[in-house]
Amino acid sequence: MNLFDVYPLNDVTIVKAKGSYVWDDQGNQYLDLYGGHAVISIGHTHPHWVKRIEEQLEKISFYSNSIQIPLQKELAGKLGTISGKEDYQLFLCNSGAEANENALKLASFHNGRKKVVAFTKAFHGRTSLAVSVTDNKNYVAPVNETDNVAFLPFNDEEALEDYFTRHGKEISSVIIEGIQGVGGINVASESFLKLIRTLCDKYGAVYIADSVQCGYGRSGKFFSHDFAGVNADIYSMAKGMGNGFPVAGIIIAPHIKPKHFQLGTTFGGNHLACAAALAVLEVIREEKLLGNATMVGKYLREQLAAIPEIKNVRGRGLMIGFDVPEELGPLKKNLLAHQKIFTGEAKPNVIRLLPSLALKKKDAEEFIDALKEEIAAIHETA
Ligand code: PMP
Repeated sequence: MNLFDVYPLNDVTIVKAKGSYVWDDQGNQYLDLYGGHAVISIGHTHPHWVKRIEEQLEKISFYSNSIQIPLQKELAGKLGTISGKEDYQLFLCNSGAEANENALKLASFHNGRKKVVAFTKAFHGRTSLAVSVTDNKNYVAPVNETDNVAFLPFNDEEALEDYFTRHGKEISSVIIEGIQGVGGINVASESFLKLIRTLCDKYGAVYIADSVQCGYGRSGKFFSHDFAGVNADIYSMAKGMGNGFPVAGIIIAPHIKPKHFQLGTTFGGNHLACAAALAVLEVIREEKLLGNATMVGKYLREQLAAIPEIKNVRGRGLMIGFDVPEELGPLKKNLLAHQKIFTGEAKPNVIRLLPSLALKKKDAEEFIDALKEEIAAIHETA
């Protein structure tokens, strides 16, 4: 059987990883500023994470969701403390798309409505509901097309108010990434998030904060919506939650009360996933990774902004994007080939940095030097 090429692949085989570094099968070392697409939160193969999972694996890794799993309660408790959302309820599942799927569905159960407001350049996943609120026609199959979703311009307060004035009572939910990831690292303005909160309150709509990529400390705060000082009704999370172990969830504000069987999953919240997720929260707290993400992220953005060829540096914490002018087209490829540095991208010409929240300042310095070197090399050959 042949393997289906889901994505265009780099010709690299990674066989080992530690902290912010990975190694290929030839023994070459790479600096990982992509973090497996924002998944590596506390660093590759963190010893506490490995130990927690190993110890759990020897006890029990899975049973079913028909028994008590104290680890789930422990996780809910620790998540409540670190996020400041102690009065929310946690539902555990397996991926970002599944989390958003459940968030959208729960909102609709809650208020009995059908319309969803989403935004231009949004990415929420590839399952049915999640993809129908994703603004990319290439991902949407005919079966996913629906008139229930309105895509409004991101950060456009006038358009949002206008839409609510006309359709407010039909809107079930508004789903927004506090910082758009796949869309190119676009930060939602604080006033825009506040307006979403106000309008959702006024019209009885549910505010869903897709925190799959921008959450879990990546922005330097636990949720990027915290910058605006607003509480969303439902937060979805995934990527960084397990540091590479598949685990995801939504947290639900107390006024939304899911009933038995409205949400469910076989694998969600299994013992092993909980152990991985607990280890991540413990390390984030112990190693003060929110502070580190804030500090190293600020340093990176300042250094990037000082490079004349780099445009429009943006983001928060360790979720950073910048535009690369056309003449520097091969930059990302060259960083990998010559400097052994993994970065991410977004169309058409954005480089995205989503490293571990434990990225060290010296690693950031190494990247900036390498970047300058590669820019100079491209100029020389031009
Ligand atoms: N929401 C956002 C903001 C994402 O970035 C992603 C993944 N790129 C998803 C949802 C979907 O997550 P998953 O791939 O785990 O289904």
